[in-house]
Amino acid sequence: MRPIPCRDCRQPVLWTTTEAGKKLAVDPDPNPAGNTAVWRDGTGAIRSRRPSDELPLCGWERLHMPHVATCRTRTQQLALPAGVTSLAEHRRKKHR
Ligand SMILES: [Zn+2]
Repeated sequence: MRPIPCRDCRQPVLWTTTEAGKKLAVDPDPNPAGNTAVWRDGTGAIRSRRPSDELPLCGWERLHMPHVATCRTRTQQLALPAGVTSLAEHRRKKHR
């Protein structure tokens, strides 16, 4: 897994492919607070999915935080996926 700098904030991110075939950037370090299961498939591609009650996290998957939740620029532009708390938003509120 090779992190690539985010175009917006320059933080390294991992680009994963979701089950719907879309690209999703996640933070490169596993994060138990994240809501995205990330694993590497047989071809070396990094895949991601949303764990559910029917399909909870498997042994070969790690939880990662979607990068939109931590990206300094994007959090101000995009609505966060349900269940994701914006760390940046949390900090802003705290310091107000
Ligand atoms: Zn970013």
